[in-house]
Amino acid sequence: MKVEIDPNSGFCGGVIRAIGGAEKFLSERSRLYSLGAIVHNEAELSRLQAKGLITLESLDGVGSVTATPTLLIRAHGEPPSTYRLAREKGFEVIDFTCPVVLSIQKSIREAWERLRPDGQIIIFGKIGHAEVLGLVGQVDGRAVVVENLPQLREKIASGEIDVCRPAEIFSQTTKSPVEYEALCAFLSEKMPGRLSVHNTICRQVASRHRELADFARGHDVIVFVSGKASSNGRVLFDLCKSLNIRSYQVGGCSEIDPFWFRSDDNVGVCGATSTPKWLLEQVATHIKNLH
Ligand code: SF4
Repeated sequence: MKVEIDPNSGFCGGVIRAIGGAEKFLSERSRLYSLGAIVHNEAELSRLQAKGLITLESLDGVGSVTATPTLLIRAHGEPPSTYRLAREKGFEVIDFTCPVVLSIQKSIREAWERLRPDGQIIIFGKIGHAEVLGLVGQVDGRAVVVENLPQLREKIASGEIDVCRPAEIFSQTTKSPVEYEALCAFLSEKMPGRLSVHNTICRQVASRHRELADFARGHDVIVFVSGKASSNGRVLFDLCKSLNIRSYQVGGCSEIDPFWFRSDDNVGVCGATSTPKWLLEQVATHIKNLH
C-alpha cells in the first residue's frame, strides 16, 4: 500500500500567523486568552493549551479584571462590539485577524456607506460562524446571511431580500467557489444591474479546491483529517467525497478503520486549512503501519 500526503494541505497563511503570534507571546508570558478556538483542530488546540493558551467561549461571563490579561483575536476576526467589550473587561487585545478578512470587513463598511439607505448587504456564509458574525458586525447586524441556494430562494420569497433594491454580495472566505458562482448567477438574473458581486473567497482556499479535486481523483482512498467544527473541513471533505466515494473524514489516528484499505491501495492523506502538518504525518505513518 502506498500512502501519500497532499503537499498542499496544512494551515493557511492566516492560521499560521495567528498560531505563530500566540506561540511567540507564550514564549515570554505564561498565559494568553483566545476568544474562540484559535484553530478548529482539537489536537493542535491541546498542544497550544499545554503552552498556556486558554480558550474562552465568550466574554459575556467574564467579569472585569484588575490585572491586564491579554486576549488574542483569531484569524476569523470579530465585530467592533467585541473589541469594545474586551477593553471594558480589562483585556489588552492582540489582533491576529487575517489580513484577507480585515480587507473584506473594510469593503463591507464601504459598501454599506455607498448603499445606504436603500441598499442591502448579502453575505454567503454559514449562519453563526465566527467570521460571518465579524462581517455582519461591520454594519451593526444589517446584513442578510444566506447559506445556500434554497435559502436564498426562501429569503427572496419572504421579502427578506428585495430584488428591486440594489445589493452587494460578499462570501465567507472558506466557502465553495463553485457554489458562490452559482448563487451569484441566480441572484444577478433576479436583479439585473442591481447586484455587485465581490470575489471574497480566499485565494488559498480557491486554489485548494482545484488541487484537492485532482488529489481526490488521483488516489484509491482518501483520508481527510480535520476537526469536526471546521467549516472549511466540511466543505473540502464534501468535495473529496463527491469525487472519490472511498473518502473518509477523521479527527486523528484513533478513528481510522483498517477495513477501509486493501493492500494494493494508493492512499491519499489530506486535510483542511486548520489541519496541522504534524497530524497529517502522524495519520500517514499510522496507515502505513496497518499492513
Ligand atoms: S482561509 Fe484565507 S482568509 Fe481565511 S484565515 Fe486562512 S488565509 Fe485568511
